[in-house]
Amino acid sequence: MDRAALVTLRVGGLVQALDEPDAEVLERAARRIGAASHEVRGARFARRSVDARKRPVRLPVQVDLVVPSGFRSRALQREERSGRVRPAPLAGSLVPPDAGARGRHVVVVGTGPAGIFAALPLALGGARVTVLERGADLGTRHRRLVPFHRGGALDPETNLLFGEGGAGTYSDGKLYTRVDHPLEVPILEELVAAGAPAEILFDARAHVGTDRLHTVLPALRRRLQEVGVEFRFDSRLDGLRLSPSRPGRVQAVEVGGESVACDAVVLATGHSARDTWERLHRQGVPFEAKPFQFGVRIEHPQELVTRARYGDPAPAELGAAAYGLTHKARAGVRGAHSFCMCPGGRVVASVHEEGHLCTNGMSNSTHSSRWANSGLVVTLGPDDYGAEGPFAGVAFQRRMERLAFEAGGGTYAAPAQRADDFLARRATSGELATSLVFGARPARLDELLPEAVTRALAAGLERWERQVPGFAGPEGLLLGFESRSSGPVRIPRDRETLLVEGFSNLQAVGEGAGWAGGIMSAAIDGARAGLALHALP
Ligand SMILES: Cc1cc2nc3c(=O)[nH]c(=O)nc-3n(C[C@H](O)[C@H](O)[C@H](O)COP(=O)(O)OP(=O)(O)OC[C@H]3O[C@@H](n4cnc5c(N)ncnc54)[C@H](O)[C@@H]3O)c2cc1C
Repeated sequence: MDRAALVTLRVGGLVQALDEPDAEVLERAARRIGAASHEVRGARFARRSVDARKRPVRLPVQVDLVVPSGFRSRALQREERSGRVRPAPLAGSLVPPDAGARGRHVVVVGTGPAGIFAALPLALGGARVTVLERGADLGTRHRRLVPFHRGGALDPETNLLFGEGGAGTYSDGKLYTRVDHPLEVPILEELVAAGAPAEILFDARAHVGTDRLHTVLPALRRRLQEVGVEFRFDSRLDGLRLSPSRPGRVQAVEVGGESVACDAVVLATGHSARDTWERLHRQGVPFEAKPFQFGVRIEHPQELVTRARYGDPAPAELGAAAYGLTHKARAGVRGAHSFCMCPGGRVVASVHEEGHLCTNGMSNSTHSSRWANSGLVVTLGPDDYGAEGPFAGVAFQRRMERLAFEAGGGTYAAPAQRADDFLARRATSGELATSLVFGARPARLDELLPEAVTRALAAGLERWERQVPGFAGPEGLLLGFESRSSGPVRIPRDRETLLVEGFSNLQAVGEGAGWAGGIMSAAIDGARAGLALHALP
C-alpha cells in the first residue's frame, strides 16, 4: 500500500504489567481503537516509562498504530475525544538546523550504528569527518572471519565484534526500540534508502538479517562518502592528545603511531573496546561501573518454538515464531528475561580476546535455519562484582568468559547443559546438537554461574516452560555465557551536548559509553551527538 494512504495514531493511556508480553499490549492498543488485525499495518511501542508510585510497579506505555488513513470506528472517535489517541508526532531530521561545525574536522571512532549516524549529520552540516575503525571493511572482515570459524584462529582487531558496521553486523538486525525519539524515523529511512526492507518503518518486530545487512552497510558507506566522510579501516584509536594550555580539550587523536589533528572527537567504540577504555581512562576520560546483563544463551529446535506459539500445524505464512519472556523478581530471587531472540538463527561466539568465550545470536532475513536461540539474562550490579573501580564489571566479564572458554574445552565450543538437567542440578551427558560452529560440550552451568544467576534462571525456566511447552525440557540447551548483552561501564556526559564530563570537544555515545543498548538506540544516540556538535557555540 502507498504509505501516503496510511496514518500513524499514537494510542496512550495503556499500562503494561512488568511480566506482560509486549505483543499483548500492542493487541490491546488495536482493540482500544476498534481496529481488526488486518487493518493494523504496523504497531510499535512509542514510549514506555516506569510508574513506581504504586506496588506492583507498572509501565505506562504509548503505542503507535499504522492504519489506513480512512480508518474510522466508534471506539476511535471516543478515544480521540478523550485525548488518549492523537496523530503521532512528526519525525525529526538528520540535517542540522545550525551548521556550527561547518568546516571543522571531527574524528568519529567506530563504524557501528552510533558512529555511522554521528558522522552523517556532521557531514550533512558541512563538517569534515574522518571515521576511524579498528577492524576491516566489510568484505575483508568477512574473509578474515573464515579462519576463526574454521579453526578458532581469532583476529583481535577484526572479528564478530570489530569491523565495519560494528557488533550488529552479524546479528538478527532487529530494529525495534523502546525509546521514543523523532530521529528514529529518519534513521530508518536512511536504512531503507540503503536497501533495507520498507516494512522496518512501521513493523513492530522489524529485523533486517545478517544477509541483508551485508548489502545495506556498503550502501550506507557510499552514502556517507558521497557527503564527504572519509573512512579509515584497520585504524585503531590508541589515545588522545590533549591541549597543554586548554584543560579538557582534545587536539589530536593517536592512530597507529600517527597523530591526526582534529577539532572534536566522537567516541562510539561499542561495548567491547576494553583496551581503548582503559587507555582513555588513564588519560583522564571518566568512566563509572554500571549494572549490566549476564546469563546464558538457550537454543531449541525452531519447530518446538513455532509449534508452542502458533499451534500444530503452524500457519506457514507466520514463519518462524519468536518469543519474549520475562520472570519477575520475587523474595530472594532476581528477575530474568529473554533477550535478543533470533528465530531461525544460529549461536555465534562473539569474542575479540583469545581464550575468552561469549555467546550471542544472529540470523538471516528469512529466519530459515532449524534453530531458535535467545539470551536468558539477569541484571548484575556493581555490588555483585566483588571489586571496586570503574572496570570491576569488565573484570567479572573477563573472568566468566575465560571460565566458559576453559569449560568448553578451549576450542570456542560452548560449555552446555540441557535445561532439564540445569533445573535438576545434574550433569548433562551425550552428544549435544547446536548451531554454534564450534559445537557444545557438557558442563555444569548450574555450578559455574554465580548462584544468584542460577536461581533466577531456574525460576524463569520453570515459568517459561508453562508458556512455551518444551522450553525447559531436554530439547532446550543452555550455552555459556551471555556476558555482553549490555555494556558494563558508563562515561558520564552532559545530557544535551553529550560532551564527556570535563571535556569541551569530546563526546561519548552508543553502547560503549553506556548510553544505548541495541542497534536503533545506538544509532539515535550517535545522531544526537552529530546534531549536538553543530549546535555548540
Ligand atoms: C551477535 C550480536 C547480535 C546482536 N543482535 C542485535 C539485534 O538483533 N538487534 C539489536 O538491536 N542489537 C543487537 N546486538 C547489539 C548491537 O549490535 C549493539 O547494541 C550495537 O551494535 C551498538 O552500537 P555501537 O555503535 O554503540 O557499537 P558497535 O556496534 O559495537 O560499534 C563499535 C565499533 O567501534 C570500533 N572500535 C572499538 N574501539 C575502537 C578503537 N579504539 N578505534 C577504532 N575503532 C574502534 C569497533 O570495531 C566497532 O566496529 C547484537 C550484538 C551482537 C554481538
